[in-house]
Amino acid sequence: MITFESLGLSGKTLQGVLAAGYTTPTPIQAQAIPVARAGRDLIGCAQTGTGKTAAFVLPMLDRLSAEERRNGSRRARALVVTPTRELASQVEKAIRTYGTFTRLRSLAIFGGVGIQPQLKQLRRGVDVVVATPGRLLDHLGRGSLDLSRVEVLVLDEADRMLDMGFIHDIRKIVAAIPARRQTLLFSATMPKEVQALANTILSDPAFVEVGGRRNPAETVMQQVCSVASHQKMDLLYHVLDTEPVDNVLVFSRTKHRANRITRKLSKRGFAATVIHSNRTQGQRQRALGGFRNGTFKILVATDIAARGLDVDGISHVINFNTPNQAEDYIHRIGRTGRAQASGHAITFVAKEEERYLRDIERHTGQRLARKVYADFEHDAEAKNGHHRPSEQARKHTGRADANRQQGRHRRRKSVRGSQSARRR
Ligand code: AMP
Repeated sequence: MITFESLGLSGKTLQGVLAAGYTTPTPIQAQAIPVARAGRDLIGCAQTGTGKTAAFVLPMLDRLSAEERRNGSRRARALVVTPTRELASQVEKAIRTYGTFTRLRSLAIFGGVGIQPQLKQLRRGVDVVVATPGRLLDHLGRGSLDLSRVEVLVLDEADRMLDMGFIHDIRKIVAAIPARRQTLLFSATMPKEVQALANTILSDPAFVEVGGRRNPAETVMQQVCSVASHQKMDLLYHVLDTEPVDNVLVFSRTKHRANRITRKLSKRGFAATVIHSNRTQGQRQRALGGFRNGTFKILVATDIAARGLDVDGISHVINFNTPNQAEDYIHRIGRTGRAQASGHAITFVAKEEERYLRDIERHTGQRLARKVYADFEHDAEAKNGHHRPSEQARKHTGRADANRQQGRHRRRKSVRGSQSARRR
């Protein structure tokens, strides 16, 4: 059996990972850790949920803690760049967890929060910086962060950083780091833009890949549901009524729609909250914290805001709209079925979204199962063959109301929050 010991991790890092409760490396960890420990550059093709964070954090801590004293001045020796604030803060938390037994100091740097605390910490000195590109460049511009001692550079979720238009920022950041360094690049997908970036900033990289480049985590049951656009909200209530949902992430393409969905859910007594880029950092943290601790059972999110969310136990991902990029689909459903847990992803497809569904199926090389909620009543105008409920469903419409009542009752116990959560 592969163990963390057998991957060659040394004392303090090993102690850290074991204290975190992990005994067996995930496949990406088993492949990436030995390569990274040997000092090689690495391209890791893995989605969130595979354990990829520890795959780069552990060898990085191992390397830095072996020579903790060398850096008397405590200038940053490792830099992790992430696309979003949430991911930066999660990665930094992982560093602190796994690095409990080292004396290394880490700092998350991102925008949307005051710069003063970051400046203060930087003056005290840090060993590892985890940052989003914008605020990182701010610090470089002010001269408050010196990257001239960086030995390890990690680009996390590189595909998403390029999607978000960070390519020039990344190149500027890379230019501020010594050429003699180890570079680790992680990406859920490998479009040619990511390859091109890797070709210019990595040197003779090893390539490790888990779960197939295009296949969403195998632990996720994936289904699509045909529905007319104007009935999506009703279908959402119906799914929440009838599925054994515990913790639900609902994706919306726009911020505006995300707000509307959340308002409607809350009005019906669901404990729902929302996260998107127009919300302040404080609002986002409260939403995420409440979702993590169970105050909110439903988190409505846009793609960018949900990127890199590490919340355990998301039972369902519901795509309120069909993602128009196959990569977004993979990222979205990767929020459930994390590590070894199993999850369920349901995608709502309106007639005008069917072409996106075809793209997703082409991209993943997999036909997604069609799900018909027999007792969900589609509008007559939608019954043009595409949205028609089954014969059996129509025969049973008389029972549908009773079923819905039962479903509602179940929901009260599951996704509906406590009174206090509802009042929030
Ligand atoms: P990541 O892909 O890095 O976002 O990690 C996904 C989840 O897997 C996180 O909640 C980690 O805490 C968890 N995890 C990381 N490594 C392991 C491991 N070796 N065994 C079990 N769970 C792990």
